[in-house]
Amino acid sequence: MNRRVLLAAPRGCCAGVDRAIATVEKALDLYGPPIYVRHEIVHNTHVIKRLEHKGAVFVDETDQVPEGSIVIFSAHGVAPTVHEQAARRQLSVIDATCPLVTKVHKEALRYSQDGYDILLIGHEGHEEVIGTLGEAPERTTLVKGPDEISNVTVRDPGKVVWLSQTTLSMDETMATAAALKHRFPNLLDPPSDDICYATQNRQRAVQEIAKEADLVLVVGSANSSNSVRLVEVALAAGAHDAQLIDHADEINETWLEGVCTIGLTSGASVPETLIQDVLKWLAARGISDVQTLTTAEEHQIFALPRELATSSQTEALNEGHRSQQPRESHTNPDIRFQSHNR
Ligand code: SF4
Repeated sequence: MNRRVLLAAPRGCCAGVDRAIATVEKALDLYGPPIYVRHEIVHNTHVIKRLEHKGAVFVDETDQVPEGSIVIFSAHGVAPTVHEQAARRQLSVIDATCPLVTKVHKEALRYSQDGYDILLIGHEGHEEVIGTLGEAPERTTLVKGPDEISNVTVRDPGKVVWLSQTTLSMDETMATAAALKHRFPNLLDPPSDDICYATQNRQRAVQEIAKEADLVLVVGSANSSNSVRLVEVALAAGAHDAQLIDHADEINETWLEGVCTIGLTSGASVPETLIQDVLKWLAARGISDVQTLTTAEEHQIFALPRELATSSQTEALNEGHRSQQPRESHTNPDIRFQSHNR
């Protein structure tokens, strides 16, 4: 049997994850360990272990960070109350929130200030959703899916907007939005896609490989929303089987029985080295024919958080200059889109 690997492109780390990891690494270089990070900087166990080894200390809340220390906020974003708590403890905040998550926060804030009720499509308990809800908790209702829509209430059906978590399934989100529109005909769409370019590109790529694959392997951690979505999208697109693995050692040889084409992709928080490990694992079992299926090209780069971006701000941190204005440390990102997707 001639067996092959169909490799999805794009896959793996997105611009927001690259920026978040680089933020921790640069802070470690500049200030030395320990550098405190609230929550996992990105949802990938391999990345977390590597940064812990270098001296990053991951905490659940800012009250676990010694007063006056530096704390980094993760790529998923935080509620304004978290900035306030950090300011009360005189922490120096470096905010690694992905600029595309910050965009959704700003939309939530603006619409709430304009008197809208916000219907936020997302997964309950996900860090990004908790952060976005925190921008306007009195005005925002979480909608987990179409089943819940009959229970949604708003103050004025003429002033309602929907927003979403950035890492959802495109198809499921649009289905939920359509059902919301049926209930609230004047529902406003977000000004632009909330589901980010990286999520969309990885879902499109896995849809294409799934059409030809008997088995799709998705490299990613179980707490990574976009990785879990890739498994679901692969199955919905026709793959006979799809499995989420953190690394090559988790592949079960029985999954390969009777399989001719193995699709391979990775979530937006997964370093390429983990894909290479899977390819080596497969090659060791005689599956070394690798074909890449490219559905988009990505050249996005996000500048580092402004707290690290200029020497004067770096000096300010070095001198222990603490911001007492929590909202000022909420990143106003410098987004550089070097080119667009095809
Ligand atoms: Fe940003 Fe999208 Fe990457 Fe999340 S998946 S960090 S929103 S680019």
